[in-house]
Amino acid sequence: LDPTGESFSNEDFEIDKALRPLSFDDFAGQQHALENLQVFVKASNLRGDALDHTLLHGPPGLGKTTLAHILANELEVNIKVTSGPVIDKPGDLAGLLTNLEERDVLFIDEIHRLSSVVEEYLYSAMEDYKIDIMIESGPNARTVEINLNPFTLIGATTRSGLLTSPMRARFGISSRLEYYSTELLTHIIQRSAGILNVPIEQQAAIEIAGRSRGTPRIANSLLRRVRDFAQIKGNGKIDMKIAKYSLNALSVDAHGLDEMDNKILRTIIDRFKGGPVGISTLATAVSENAETIEEVYEPFLIQKGFLMRTPRGREATQEAYKHLGVVKPSTNQG
Ligand code: ATP
Repeated sequence: LDPTGESFSNEDFEIDKALRPLSFDDFAGQQHALENLQVFVKASNLRGDALDHTLLHGPPGLGKTTLAHILANELEVNIKVTSGPVIDKPGDLAGLLTNLEERDVLFIDEIHRLSSVVEEYLYSAMEDYKIDIMIESGPNARTVEINLNPFTLIGATTRSGLLTSPMRARFGISSRLEYYSTELLTHIIQRSAGILNVPIEQQAAIEIAGRSRGTPRIANSLLRRVRDFAQIKGNGKIDMKIAKYSLNALSVDAHGLDEMDNKILRTIIDRFKGGPVGISTLATAVSENAETIEEVYEPFLIQKGFLMRTPRGREATQEAYKHLGVVKPSTNQG
């Protein structure tokens, strides 16, 4: 299993589509973000204008793509989906923009990875719904300004810190998605099990939820694998016994921590005496980039109480020692 739950077979891809909530009502959690978005969508529908450009940010797998589709559904418009690294040059973007109908949504995933030329080209499109396009070639080549239909850009990023400030300033709405509680993930797992038509006991759903790293994508991914075990090793029903058996067979950590989470904690404890250690030193030690640690791994470890961010760097907590089965040396021993 990919720790982020991202590597899918074709069958998984189809199932993933089936499990995707389609409306605000189906979407569990993120109450704060959702309440605001519901108001903005209603107002935009009433007035008939395009929804303000919207930035969705937060760690991977929490539902940014899902939410972008829901926004388009609730606005009753089409959505075109692309991603930052795919848009090579302004011309690629022009093609997408000129094909948008009034109020349509253009969803750009990983928007922090747009090249700077493409990003600048996007500014006037976002601000005035206008772009320059090049017509003809050779000596007759010239640019003309064309008007676009009013549209909504929805940008998604796991790394909002990497967005340039002019880009950030062009989003009228910005919503941060948070990790999900075990209770919410239990609800998501039960809903997904219902769609997949697999019977699941409440306790088993709670067990899977607790090991899903606060992330619906991982919860759904684990559910699909546990379903396989239930079918082959059990009687098709997911009860506590089969859930525990499968999660152990999949080597899923009791807290849902993935390999990198554990590596970060172990490195702080083993190599830096529990910390504090500066983020760049830590990043080098675990061979990961500092921003990814800060934006993807650290928030979950802090939320779980395994890590503390102090002015002098990152420190492992008593809980982290307990989790890794290491005895914390007492501080007065030096
Ligand atoms: P990434 O940015 O890495 O693409 P993401 O944040 O866009 O991740 P999604 O792909 O939208 O995440 O969500 C992952 C899966 O989790 C979806 O297939 C969807 O079924 C499920 N999911 C996400 N959020 C919810 C939710 N609030 N309720 C129910 N299911 C959800």
